[in-house]
Amino acid sequence: MVNLTKQMIEIRSILNKIDSSSSNLTLPSIVVIGSQSSGKSSVLESIVGKEFLPKGSNMVTRRPIELTLVNTPNNRETTADFPTMRMYNIKDFLEVKKILTDLNLAVPSSECISEDPIQLTIKSPTVPDLSMVDLPGYIQIEAADQPIELKSKIRQLCNKYLAAPNIILAISPADVDLANSTALKASRQVDPAGERTIGVVTKLDMVSLDEARKILTNKKYPLKMGYVGVINRPPISRATTTAAAARRFFGNEQPTTGDSKKNSLVNVSSSASPSDYENQYFKTYKDYFSKCEVSSRKLRSKLIKILEVSMSNALEPTEHLIQQDLDDTSYRFKVEFNDRQLTPKSYLLSQIDIIKSASKELQEQFSRSELKSILKADLDQKVLEILANRYWKETGLSYGSGATVASEVDDVYWHKKLELASSSLTKIGVGRLSTTLVTNAILKELDNVLDFTTGNETDGLIRQLVNNTAINVLNSKYYSTADQVENCIKPFKYEIELEDRDWNESRDHSIALIKEEYRQCAERFSMLKSSIGSSKLQQVTSYLNKKRAISNSIGTTADAPLLTEETLGFSKLLLERGQEAIQLDNRIKLLQFRLKILKKKCQSSKDSDRCPEVFLNAVSDKLTSTAVLFLNVELLSDFFYNFPIELDKRVSLLNNEQIEMYAKEDSRIARHIELQKRKELLELALNKIDSILVFRKTYRGYQIHK
Ligand code: GDP
Repeated sequence: MVNLTKQMIEIRSILNKIDSSSSNLTLPSIVVIGSQSSGKSSVLESIVGKEFLPKGSNMVTRRPIELTLVNTPNNRETTADFPTMRMYNIKDFLEVKKILTDLNLAVPSSECISEDPIQLTIKSPTVPDLSMVDLPGYIQIEAADQPIELKSKIRQLCNKYLAAPNIILAISPADVDLANSTALKASRQVDPAGERTIGVVTKLDMVSLDEARKILTNKKYPLKMGYVGVINRPPISRATTTAAAARRFFGNEQPTTGDSKKNSLVNVSSSASPSDYENQYFKTYKDYFSKCEVSSRKLRSKLIKILEVSMSNALEPTEHLIQQDLDDTSYRFKVEFNDRQLTPKSYLLSQIDIIKSASKELQEQFSRSELKSILKADLDQKVLEILANRYWKETGLSYGSGATVASEVDDVYWHKKLELASSSLTKIGVGRLSTTLVTNAILKELDNVLDFTTGNETDGLIRQLVNNTAINVLNSKYYSTADQVENCIKPFKYEIELEDRDWNESRDHSIALIKEEYRQCAERFSMLKSSIGSSKLQQVTSYLNKKRAISNSIGTTADAPLLTEETLGFSKLLLERGQEAIQLDNRIKLLQFRLKILKKKCQSSKDSDRCPEVFLNAVSDKLTSTAVLFLNVELLSDFFYNFPIELDKRVSLLNNEQIEMYAKEDSRIARHIELQKRKELLELALNKIDSILVFRKTYRGYQIHK
């Protein structure tokens, strides 16, 4: 049947795309075995017509090479593909050799071999359609002094490839007694009747013609498919063709056909190509080899025929296996995924749609009042810091009580102080601060959306894509927004006018803030008290107070290191807690005092100098509302408009491979896609096999009728 092997090879490459668990779905291949230097690489290369295999004394194959040869009559060039590595159309065979060498060397020598096959497809108008496997130089490895686990690993790998229906190509060099051929020994173990082994005898030029003929007509180790003799290398120099060399070839017996000069190697130029040399050699001595199969050309045609027959025999069993696998896969697909079709692209687009519509909802969430509260919360903290540094720390409880604001000098002092405090607030860089806060808030909310849609993986691909897009869109507006905001709050750096309403609101807010801080301090204080015990706390704080009084009296500053050195009766931890309790107590008293002042003495903006809490709060309120106006227009509207557009753009730039990777990030989706793909591939393979079988039946019927 014309082109059967080609079609079967196509089916095989379809089956290869299905994961390796389907290893029972293999079609027959020719598995090449031979000990090192037997000429194995030379045989494979003579079939391909290219040098591409790594050589060298320590270059033992460590991974099986699954070699698929595809005859492409319409192509001019010979090209190589490594489909699993997605490398295609390599024209430079030195490159192929280098890739194979690197892959080989990547297997650590401690592991000896790897079961993971290298898939290599060579397409050429001059190669036959064949599928071959170059098996690791296992024989000598196995023979070497290896640990038992390694030996069994090697044997397992070999048994897998040497099993029926594969054909074994056992390479033996002519200059080694066949009884010692490691390849034949290995093939006899799995094919004792010699039914699916072809013997290849290399280096025929290295023995005398008689010996060569004897080897090829071997009766001692009969193989049903016989032996083929080849010569894959012309002699190195004319020296090999001297009379001495001739004696080695012909022994004492001179060739019976013609005179020795005509038939000797001298007749063939040493610079001839290996195939020319081989042709010439067998032509010259054709009488010697009349009953034998010789030459690489013969080997090729034999392999094509044998593979075609075994492929043909494998058609029906393979169809049966594929059908079984397909039934099983279809069942699982129905049960697990209800036959729902899904492509990586449709999945990815649906995820992106979810994220886009969630971002629309986010826009509603980022209302002006929400923005304001984000910013205000941060500025509140800044206000508290300024108060603590400029007022509460330095002057303790004294300022603002009224009793101390006695003279005009004092008035000027407190007024200047308030101006300074206010300018530290207006000059903190509200532009950048507010833009950064809002940017971070958007990214955080987006992260929550992603947690919901893509799970919690922090370095997921979809998450990265969405985050990078958001960061990019936000960044493009960051500096201009920050500048705009900064420009707009500029007037507040010079003058702030407060209406009564502003003042009252701000006073209420300050009271609420201080009450909150008071609550937190009180809570922490009572926690300390209950964990240490009231009386113990009393003891440690009075000890610490006493010590501080002493160090103050001898002139150490209040900023002296904390008094937490372990001492009799008090552990280091206890002293630290005591120290904290003292600070909390002071803070509580201060806050109580400030609350009283705020409630009683801060009635209007005229009292600003004595009520910095209220004034600064009012300033921060003004800063916030102005900033929010611009953030809304400059940053948010732009972001929510451009983010979905940019996201679509980035997704459209992904290639199919990337899309699949993105989709498979979710293990359930990965399984869905894999199972669906498996089903499709099995269906495709089955269709192809069925059409071959139908053709074969019709063809036979047609022949019978004829
Ligand atoms: P491998 O280690 O089994 O792959 O063997 P190679 O194909 O690398 O061959 C080992 C050596 O034998 C190389 O130096 C080849 O050039 C040489 N060789 C291979 N075939 C022949 C042959 O038919 N005749 C001669 N004289 N040498 C050969």
